[in-house]
Amino acid sequence: MEHKKKNKIYIIDVTNRDGVQTAKLGLAKLEKTMMNIMLNDMGIYQSEFGFPLTKHETNYINANLELADLGLLSPMILEGWSRAMRKDIEESCKNTNVKHWNLSISTSRQMIDGKFGGRITRDFESKDKPSVLGLMADAVKTAKKHGALTIGVNAEDASRTDMEFLIKFAKYAREHGADRIRYCDTLGYDDPFSIYERVKILAEEVKIPIELHCHNDLGLAAACSITGAKGAIDGGVDAYINTTLNGMGERAGNADMVSVILALKKSSGFDEYKLDDRIKLKKAWRIAKYASYAFGVPIPVNQVAVGENAFAHESGIHADGALKDRRNYELYDFEELGRGEPETIDTGRKITAGEYSGIKGFRNVYGKLEIEFKDDKEAAKVLDLVRYANVHTQKPLTNDELKFIAHYPKQAKQIMTVTP
Ligand SMILES: [Zn+2]
Repeated sequence: MEHKKKNKIYIIDVTNRDGVQTAKLGLAKLEKTMMNIMLNDMGIYQSEFGFPLTKHETNYINANLELADLGLLSPMILEGWSRAMRKDIEESCKNTNVKHWNLSISTSRQMIDGKFGGRITRDFESKDKPSVLGLMADAVKTAKKHGALTIGVNAEDASRTDMEFLIKFAKYAREHGADRIRYCDTLGYDDPFSIYERVKILAEEVKIPIELHCHNDLGLAAACSITGAKGAIDGGVDAYINTTLNGMGERAGNADMVSVILALKKSSGFDEYKLDDRIKLKKAWRIAKYASYAFGVPIPVNQVAVGENAFAHESGIHADGALKDRRNYELYDFEELGRGEPETIDTGRKITAGEYSGIKGFRNVYGKLEIEFKDDKEAAKVLDLVRYANVHTQKPLTNDELKFIAHYPKQAKQIMTVTP
């Protein structure tokens, strides 16, 4: 396939930031870490991995940065989210060594008036009050001063911001050193046509790479993400799509990662548009299943690509057609997603490792994973961590989690340590 457009589309996953903001649901720090490891395995460009300002994230963030230095979490970029406020960034940099940022501030009249209640102006209208432009520039400068390597500036509620101000905001961000603008459709208000037009104008006027951050309140998050990316590339810049696993996120959620990747690869109009070629779609099944398990939210049977029924055919005509030639009724193959392996389930005796496990059962569990300990002392140390991990996640540990704890006990301990 020939890609005629020179700019590319990259994926920035925000499950560990926006996804965990889902009401009534969340992830343990060990689960967030596993998510990062799987995102990196999948070849995802960047993970928005947390909130550096939030104290209970500090150990998780620093341990994940260490895992990046050790090579387990590389080459994926780990990026922290913050309000575009100087004091937040300064405080964050005291506790963590985050070098990649997304800095967020509202840009629409609705939010500036409705959230800040007249305390903050938009432009520099008043000498006595801070402005959105001023705060944002100050935040970018502060992050740079603390050694930031990349900065994305988030225009919150961009879709309800007039284009004139949005362009001014993006230009001002670029002038102060921002690397990207995040076009945030906070309420899922855009449609695929409006976001294409607006992002294309923004790209042409400002010439800065653009992130698409779309919410699913109208069921259009994936559609708006890909047309927004098209707008950025037609406007002459790279596009970065923000996604979450299984579309988790506030209210109706964010753009589902697997849907977005498949739409870019398989839909009729994207041949000329080049997706980051490091992405391994084959990992989709594994990561979607893990996200479902960790959040405790089942995957809907009709979920794109990873739902139980995504490749099920029952009606006579469809079943017959799919058996004769899968292309009759299947747009893509289940093998491409890493599906199709039979799953084995123990139906007899089962020894699991949990918060009250003893050494014998524990060795049995690890033996099956082909992990050996050099002596009883090492085994006892890991067993202790496994017990804590089970207290921490409150569900049976997965094989991947057990392996991680055995291979990286020091970081696992740090990740699970939360000291109020
Ligand atoms: Zn969001």
